[in-house]
Amino acid sequence: MSASFRPAGPRQVPVGQYPLWDEALAAVNRDLAATAPEQRPLRLTVYPEMADLVEQVYVALSNGEAHGNPLMPYESAAEALTAVADAAQETVSERLWRVWPVCTVHDLGMHPRDVDGRPSWWCAGGSRKGDPAHVLAAIGELAAVHRPHRPNRKRRKGGTPR
Ligand SMILES: [Zn+2]
Repeated sequence: MSASFRPAGPRQVPVGQYPLWDEALAAVNRDLAATAPEQRPLRLTVYPEMADLVEQVYVALSNGEAHGNPLMPYESAAEALTAVADAAQETVSERLWRVWPVCTVHDLGMHPRDVDGRPSWWCAGGSRKGDPAHVLAAIGELAAVHRPHRPNRKRRKGGTPR
């Protein structure tokens, strides 16, 4: 009998091992790139202390840090996408100490939610009447509501018109 091997640190999950999660994470990483372009893509990671149990996969930062619950097997791609977005949000907010993603209308943190079978970024809306909860974008499509960042076209502040 050979002793079980324990790797020293978090292990990145090879692409292709969990195709449904790969696909979901690619969509979530599109949203991350659109809203926090300074961040490197998230990745699926396994932690060594779980190696002898059923493999526990987390959505982690590029450095391997994660927070929250491992991913669970899902029935559908839509279910997987909502769950991966949820795990990504947990890791980003707890490890980077930032609210992500933020609604461009209300400046509030949004949450992944299945809306009529479509995994979406849901915002609670404004506190006033007539400003209800809403869906800002489908998960993976935040780029459509975020203007591209153009550092070259930044306007000069405090300039006086001639
Ligand atoms: Zn909103």
